[in-house]
Amino acid sequence: MDHKEFRVKAKELVDYIADYLENIRDHRVYPGVQPGYLHKRLPNEAPQLPEKWDDIFKDVEDHIMPGIVHWQSPHMHAYFPALTSYPSIMGEMLSSAMNVLCFTWASSPAGTELETIAMNWLGKLLGLPDCFLNEKNDSPGGGVIQTTASEATLVSLLAARTRALIELSSLNPDMQSSELLGHLICYCSDQAHSSVEKAGLIGLVRMRYIESDENQCMRGAKLEEAILNDKDKGLVPFWVCATLGTTGSVAFDNLREIGEVCEKHSAWLHVDAAYAGSAFICPEYRHWLNGVELADSFAFNPSKWLMVNFDCTAMWVKESTALHRTFNVNPIYLRHENSGKAIDYMHWQIPLSRRFRALKLWFVLRNYGVVGLQKHIREGVRLAQKFEALVLADQRFEIPQPRNLGMVAFRLKGDNTLTERLLKRLNARGYIHAVPACFKGVYVIRFTVTSQRTTNQDILDDWSEIKKVASEILVDTFGSENGNIVMPKKPRISLKETRELNATFGTSLLLANSPMSPKIVNGTHVAICDYEQVLSSCAQTFAQLKMEPKDSPEMRRRIRGIRMCGKKFSLDSYMDMVQGLMVEQSLPQCSEEEREEASNGSSPGDRSSITSSPVTSSTTIKQDNSDLSQLHVPSTPSRQFRSKSFDVSLSDLKLDDATISIDMRNNEITITPTGSKKFDDQVHFNAVEGKLNIGDKISQAFDSFQGGILGDRNDVGDKVDKMDDDSKITIKGPGSYIKKLIQQFSEGPFETEDVKTESEKAVTTQSIKDRADAICKKCFHYKGRISK
Ligand code: PLP
Repeated sequence: MDHKEFRVKAKELVDYIADYLENIRDHRVYPGVQPGYLHKRLPNEAPQLPEKWDDIFKDVEDHIMPGIVHWQSPHMHAYFPALTSYPSIMGEMLSSAMNVLCFTWASSPAGTELETIAMNWLGKLLGLPDCFLNEKNDSPGGGVIQTTASEATLVSLLAARTRALIELSSLNPDMQSSELLGHLICYCSDQAHSSVEKAGLIGLVRMRYIESDENQCMRGAKLEEAILNDKDKGLVPFWVCATLGTTGSVAFDNLREIGEVCEKHSAWLHVDAAYAGSAFICPEYRHWLNGVELADSFAFNPSKWLMVNFDCTAMWVKESTALHRTFNVNPIYLRHENSGKAIDYMHWQIPLSRRFRALKLWFVLRNYGVVGLQKHIREGVRLAQKFEALVLADQRFEIPQPRNLGMVAFRLKGDNTLTERLLKRLNARGYIHAVPACFKGVYVIRFTVTSQRTTNQDILDDWSEIKKVASEILVDTFGSENGNIVMPKKPRISLKETRELNATFGTSLLLANSPMSPKIVNGTHVAICDYEQVLSSCAQTFAQLKMEPKDSPEMRRRIRGIRMCGKKFSLDSYMDMVQGLMVEQSLPQCSEEEREEASNGSSPGDRSSITSSPVTSSTTIKQDNSDLSQLHVPSTPSRQFRSKSFDVSLSDLKLDDATISIDMRNNEITITPTGSKKFDDQVHFNAVEGKLNIGDKISQAFDSFQGGILGDRNDVGDKVDKMDDDSKITIKGPGSYIKKLIQQFSEGPFETEDVKTESEKAVTTQSIKDRADAICKKCFHYKGRISK
C-alpha cells in the first residue's frame, strides 16, 4: 500500500468506523460463533504474494465481524466498560503513525513530557493529594501510564517488596533475599480482583485474604487482627491492596481505616480503583477517597469508563524512587545526556518499551473537558439507577448488594440455578451480554451500564429482554411466570382511610371514566403541586382566558359534551368549561357567526325563525299534562341535577303520542308523532342554544316539528331533518352518538324522580334500559313506544 492508496483506503476506513459506531445497535452484542469458527474460514498459512486491500477488508466483514463481541454497544453489560471515543481513536491513529517508544526522555521527549503533564491534570481532576503529582522536577511522586490495572498492581507489589527486602536485609545482614522473601506477607480483601492474587503469585509472596463485611468492604479492624496474628508467627506484612469499586459489586474498602493500619505497621498501601476511579472526577463520589493520602500508590483505568482507548491505566506513586530501585537497569545504550534531569519512564514499569499513550488521554481530556466527562459519568450512574428501579419493582428479582455507581448486581429470588440459567439463556440469545459474580455463595448477574450511547430506551429494552427470558425460565421450572413467589395483593385502602390519612383529601378530584365506575384520584393536583401552586396556576389560566379565550367548534362541542353527560370531569375539563362560558359571555360575535352559519342553512341555530315563548319545566312526560313546555338549562353537569329539574322536556308532548324508531345501522332515530296535540307556544331556542343535552335533542326535534320549524340542524354533530312528510322527524348522527342518545334517552331524561315512587321508577327505568340495551347490542331496527 502506497501513500496514495493509504489516503483513499484509510479515509474509507474512517467512514467504516464512524458507521460502525453510529449503528452499533444493529449488531447482536454477543456473537453466535463456536470455538474454532475462524480456523475453518481462514487459510492455514500466510499468503505468499501481496493481497489487495479490498480483498483483505472484505474478510473483515465476512469473517471477523461475525466473531466480535461489540463492547461499544449499549447492550454490552459484561465486565466493566472498555470505552472508546473519537478523540481517543484519533489519538491512537496518530500515535500509531508516529509509533514512538517513550522509554526514556531522549527516546521521545514530547511523549515523556506529555505523559507527566496529562497525569498531573488527571490526578488533580480526581482530587488526589499533591504528593502524587509531579509538577516540579524534584517532586518525589508522580503519575505514569501503565498498560493495565493488573500491571499497576504488580508494579506496586514489586516496589513494596523491594522496599521491604532492603529494610529486612539491613536488619538481617546474614540472611539472603530468597530467605527473607519467605517471611513476607501481603493482604487484600476476599473481594479483590484476581489480578491481585496473580501479583502475589508472580511476586512469590504469601497473600492473606481479609474477610469483607456485609457490604463486601474490607475494614481496618479485620486487617489489623490478621496482621497482628501474622506478626506473632514471625511474618512481615509489607503490602496491602485496597479496592475502591470491587469487580463483583463495586464495593469500597474503607481506605482511611486500612491506611491507618498500614501506616502503623509500615506496610505499602496500594489502591486499586480500576473501574470506580473514573467516577472520582465528580466531587460527589470522592468521599470514597477519604484516606487516600495514606496510600503509597493508586491506580485506575481511564480505558474503562473514561472513554480512553485500551490500553491506559493511570498510576500514581508517592515515592518514585521505590520504582526506580525495583526496575532500574541502566545499560549504556539507554543512557542519555539528560539522564536524571527528566523522567525516564522505563524505570517506572516492567517492560522497556512503551507506547505514546498520553496522546489519546490528552485528546480526551481536552475534547470533552471536565464538564463533558463528568456528564458522561453521571449519565451512566443515572441509567444504572433506572435499571435498579426496574429490577426492584419486579417481585421476582432481588438486588442482594446495594448498587454503587453504574453497576447493578441482580438475581432471581430463590435457588442460584435459576439465575445461572437466566444468564446462560440471555447470553445465548445475544441481545444483551452480561457476566456473573458470586457474593458469599449468592450468584448474581452483573449489569453494568457501559456505553456513552446508552439511552433510557436501551435500558427499558434490556429489561424487557431480561423479564421475558426470566418468565420463560420460571414457567419451565414452576409452571408459572411468577415462579414460586407469592405476589402480595395490593392493599385496598378505603375511602375513609384515605380521607383520614390525607388532610388535603378534599381537594382531590373524583373522576368517573364511566358513569358506573367512579374513581378516586387522590390528590390529583395536590400530589403534584402544593396549594399555592394550584392557586397560582389557576390564576394564570384565568388571566390567559381573559386575554385569549379559546373558541372553536370542537371546543364548543367538547364543552357541551361535558355538560350533557353528567359525569365528574377532571380539573382540566372543568377549566375548559369555564373557558367556554367566558367565551359565551365575552364574545357575542361567536353566536353571530353561528347565526350567519344558520342563515346559510348549516346551523341548528336558525334562531330568528324560532319564537321565544317559554317551555314548561316539568321533567315528566305525562299523557295529559297540559302545561306549556319550558326549557331549563343545567348549570352544572351533575346527572342528578339534570334529571331532576334541568332536563329539557316538553310537558305537552306525550311519548305515547309518538313512535320512535331507531336505526343503528343507518344511525338514525325517527320520531313520528301519533297524537293530535299541538303546542300552543314554541320554544325560544336562543335561550338554550348550545346548552341542550341529548334528551333535549329529541325534545327539540319534537318542538321543531310541532312549531313547524324544520330544516337542517347541526348542533352536536347530528342532523335534524324533516323527512318525507310533516309527521316525521329524523335525527341523524354518528353511530356512537345515536347509541349515546338511546342510552341517555332510556336512562330517563324524561323521567322525574319526584313524581314516581322509588319502585315505579326502578321498574320503568329498568325496562327502558333493558330495551335500549337490546337495541344497542343487536343494532337492529327498533320500533316501539317508550312507555312510562
Ligand atoms: N482491578 C479491578 C477492581 C478490576 O475490576 C479489574 C478488571 O475489571 C482489574 C483490576 C484488572 O484490570 P486490567 O484488565 O486493566 O488489568
